[in-house]
Amino acid sequence: MANKFRVGILGATGVVGQRFIQLLEGHPQFEVAALAASDRSQGKTYAGACTWRLPGDMPEAVKQTVVQPPAPPLDCDFVFSSLPTDVAKQAEEDFARAGYPVISNSSPHRMGADVPLLIPEVNPEHLELIDAQRTNREFNRGFIVTNPNCSAIAIVMALAPLHAKFGVTSCVVTTMQALSGAGYPGVPSLDATDNVIPFIGGEDEKVEAETRKLLGVASQGTIVDAEMKVSAQCNRVNVTDGHMASIRVALSKKATIDEIREALSSFTAEPQRLKLHSAPDKPIVVRNEIDRPQPRLDRDAGNGMSVTVGRIAADTVLDYRFVALGHNTIRGAAGAAILNAELLVAKEYLSS
Ligand code: NAP
Repeated sequence: MANKFRVGILGATGVVGQRFIQLLEGHPQFEVAALAASDRSQGKTYAGACTWRLPGDMPEAVKQTVVQPPAPPLDCDFVFSSLPTDVAKQAEEDFARAGYPVISNSSPHRMGADVPLLIPEVNPEHLELIDAQRTNREFNRGFIVTNPNCSAIAIVMALAPLHAKFGVTSCVVTTMQALSGAGYPGVPSLDATDNVIPFIGGEDEKVEAETRKLLGVASQGTIVDAEMKVSAQCNRVNVTDGHMASIRVALSKKATIDEIREALSSFTAEPQRLKLHSAPDKPIVVRNEIDRPQPRLDRDAGNGMSVTVGRIAADTVLDYRFVALGHNTIRGAAGAAILNAELLVAKEYLSS
């Protein structure tokens, strides 16, 4: 591509912001043009404001970029947002109103009736909400598209092929979520070490509501939620990266265990057909070993963009159970938003 889209990153110094910068290095369609963070960082170079906490070095191209406030105007074609919830709501709305497409990781707009909550493999047709959003909110060039909660995305990737083939009527899920999901510095070490914390504020509710929206149907500028009971309990565990979920499902059509395994392992969708740059060849990797998936061994499957499923078995209470694992800051955050942007380019919602 001759002219790359020039992108801004809001919350560029944080856990997710650093992932954006890492994943966008050498991206064929996008180049980082503007960085924004809190007033703690504003006016400093990125190298001066940010303690780089990912393996490898901070990319040279961003080191001298001066960090700006997360408010329009920013010199870029669209923005990725990884702002904290309380700041994201107004800032993202301001950018969209000022004409910038906003591709957000943050939660405040996810459940908006006219806001696509997008997983390109699962619900690309939900992008049609953008037209309604522009009309409802009198946006011109701007709009807001969100990616789901970092656990919901792995759970729904695994549910989607089963729901399409056999109809999931109920889903009971228990998550084991990594420390990096809480941002930096996150959970104090004396709370996290030798411990499991059975509470992550708002997370049970997010997983339940987002799952129904993601698997719902776009109709007349909004989403009709999937008719599915979802029950979620979310736990913080002493793992650096990788959210795991134990999932039990009831199905409306009978399926054999081989059909369940086949539906998951053969799953492929729009991003693979379109050959989007960040799309993994296999969105779902099925492992047959009795002790997989494991965060340390499986979170980087498909460069962190695949969801790994294992422990598939008949369940004695519902119909089937399995364990799903996704990388929370890649498939669950920055990688998800970048894949959303690639789909938006392919569908001609983004122009430079
Ligand atoms: P984080 O590590 O705490 O980073 C927060 C970022 O926001 C930093 O760049 C920080 O800048 C900036 N910021 C903080 N307060 C601000 C303010 N008042 N005004 C402007 N900028 C401000 O958090 P994170 O884990 O990257 O999460 C960012 C967002 O992504 C959150 O909404 C979170 O829920 C969501 N998310 C996170 C994950 C994950 O796995 N971590 C996954 C999915 C979604 P300074 O460095 O200048 O303070």
